[in-house]
Amino acid sequence: MKPNPSLFLLLTSFVALFVACGRDEPPPFPTQTPEFVERTVEPTALPGATPTALPTQTFTPAPTSTPTATPTPFITPPAAGENVVIPILMYHHLKYREANASQVLRTWSVAPNEFAAQLDFFQARGFHTITFKQLVEFFEDGAPLPTKPLLLTIDDGWIDSYTVAFPELKKRGMVGNFFVPTQYLDVGGELLINWEQAIEMDRAGMEFGGHTISHEDLTKITLEQMRRQLSGAKEKMEAKFGHPTYALSYPFGAFNPRVVAATQTAGYRAALILCCGYKIHADDLLTLPRIRISYDDTLEDIAKKLP
Ligand SMILES: [Zn+2]
Repeated sequence: MKPNPSLFLLLTSFVALFVACGRDEPPPFPTQTPEFVERTVEPTALPGATPTALPTQTFTPAPTSTPTATPTPFITPPAAGENVVIPILMYHHLKYREANASQVLRTWSVAPNEFAAQLDFFQARGFHTITFKQLVEFFEDGAPLPTKPLLLTIDDGWIDSYTVAFPELKKRGMVGNFFVPTQYLDVGGELLINWEQAIEMDRAGMEFGGHTISHEDLTKITLEQMRRQLSGAKEKMEAKFGHPTYALSYPFGAFNPRVVAATQTAGYRAALILCCGYKIHADDLLTLPRIRISYDDTLEDIAKKLP
């Protein structure tokens, strides 16, 4: 295998990512993460090696659901000062984990069969997936949204964004919103999606958003570094995709007033944090809350997290 100069950067990013992604959880590991260890041994695991998926949950769609008969009704922006209910769900890995996988891995993963079942569940509940472009135009221009709008965000660009999320979403006519550091897209390979795959997804209707160049904690770098991370990623994505990038996911969900101001200056019109809830206010588009879906969430659990 050809040595890759980006590999060191990438691996250090992984470590940093999993250390800090757990920030809102019990704090994690000093040097090497379970994620890092697991991925170094992963290539020896064959597909038939019985991952310990939770049994796929089944449900019966409501008998009243009539898929195509009538056009989708729309909602319009609220009166000034009012919240709108728009859940933004947060995923990272879509992959099977061993039965004894750590709590950290279970927190940041969802099994592929569960992900597919969740998409069916959202559709049966009448949710309509939208893009951040639509969300911004709803608040800024008064453009209508379909009723029960839902955003499905998937961060970091793990390869299962392409091999699992993309086909499952496309099959159902749903859209996903993917937030990937541009340096990860530059590297691609077995672990991460690359630009070619991202462009294919973009052209098929998926939406990509900024996640900086190298997944930096924006609260811990200089203003100049922050500007480069924000603008550099946005410019590269726009050049590659050929259209504007609307939203940013703050790496590690880390933000402060200075980061929010720089995000706005860089031209992002929406930005995502890690926590919590689904009430969105027009004045807070740069600190949009998200709802995390994890490995052990059942459809009942998820129903309780949704409006
Ligand atoms: Zn991330």
